[in-house]
Amino acid sequence: MKEKIVIYAGYIYNGTELKENVTLEISDGKITSIKEGFSEVGDAYLLDKREHFVFPAFINTHTHSAMTGMRGLADDLPLMEWLNKYIFPVELKLVDREFINTFFPLALVEMIHSGISTFADMYFFQDEAALWVKKAGLRAVLAEGVIDFGTPNKKEVKEQLAYTEDFIKSFREDENVIPAIGPHAPYTCSPELLKKSWEIAEKYDVPYLIHVSETQAEVDMVLEKYGKRPVEHLDSLGVLGERVISAHSVHLSPSEKEIFKEKKVGVSHNPQSNMKLASGIAPIKEYLEKGIKVSVGTDGVASNNNLDFIDELRTASLLQKISTNDPTALSAEETLRIGTIGGAHVLRLKNVGRIEEGYWADIAILDLSSANLTPVYNPISHLIYAASAHDIDTLIVMGKIIMENREIKTLDEGEIKKKARMYSNKIKELVL
Ligand SMILES: [Zn+2]
Repeated sequence: MKEKIVIYAGYIYNGTELKENVTLEISDGKITSIKEGFSEVGDAYLLDKREHFVFPAFINTHTHSAMTGMRGLADDLPLMEWLNKYIFPVELKLVDREFINTFFPLALVEMIHSGISTFADMYFFQDEAALWVKKAGLRAVLAEGVIDFGTPNKKEVKEQLAYTEDFIKSFREDENVIPAIGPHAPYTCSPELLKKSWEIAEKYDVPYLIHVSETQAEVDMVLEKYGKRPVEHLDSLGVLGERVISAHSVHLSPSEKEIFKEKKVGVSHNPQSNMKLASGIAPIKEYLEKGIKVSVGTDGVASNNNLDFIDELRTASLLQKISTNDPTALSAEETLRIGTIGGAHVLRLKNVGRIEEGYWADIAILDLSSANLTPVYNPISHLIYAASAHDIDTLIVMGKIIMENREIKTLDEGEIKKKARMYSNKIKELVL
């Protein structure tokens, strides 16, 4: 593949406006020129996408990638029964380096097909995951999960923190990987662990990923234990700031919303997981109006059950409409923005999330030829309301073609799926 890429785009959305018939040039990983009309290619590699829609690639701000190994293992259960009978036994007995090496790449394959260039992951053995991110050519914030009662990687909290610090040191200069720390939640991490994690995040200037106020039960638990609501509790510990990526944040009081705004905390909205576990609806339209940073995540597939980001965005939009009784809430364009530039703001990524000269060439391309996308009046409407991941045909990340015409170039999709199917027998023996 030549270093320079030229795209003929039938339609293009740069993050603020929609245009037709544009020639885009990419070199050294960056977008170098955007011109109206279709101009000469010269020595570049041409992607002729005159029947397509070119847009900034998606940014998935909350997932647990390797949970692809537990997809569909158990559904339609109360949260505690689901966790105790299925998820925790698998995590305690089976999640090891081999498990990560089997199911993390499976998630990458699914995310690539969905047009995701960048994602934020909270799970374990992130040194293994990091190598896969590099191989795939994607960009990821990888947070090692830390939790009071031990992780599949390290039993003692002290060891968890030491491992995380080593992991951060190893990858802090990396192009693809942004290492981070992920204290699970205010109800599963002691105040001491939350503070120690914060110290590490500050010391190395890395993101701090945490689940906050996912369910009303969590709010009640934290209130009873600490006499404060979750956000108030975190604020009193001094662990809120711009580096925080707060997953869910469904149940916030008016003063907690003010705290999030003031401390510039970023929210990852995960609508399908919240619906499936009956957690509630995060009022993200209100958050956006207040000036709180909002992005979208899929969460892990054990509670979703897929990584189709288009599906996730559509759900986000429809949920705001029904919950506010307002069909104008979260328009297709606003939804696309929180799924792209919104994610870049929450993850604090520079020159990412727009198609503009000098920005990283992180680009997804939607094939408009399917029956479900015919005819075309507004490609943004089609992307959010009518398409699915299967309609994404090309993904470019940092100027590298990761997928072209639905074929992944950087990973062996067939081999990865085969390995996952074989491994699933072990899981079946354990819990079914
Ligand atoms: Zn989660």
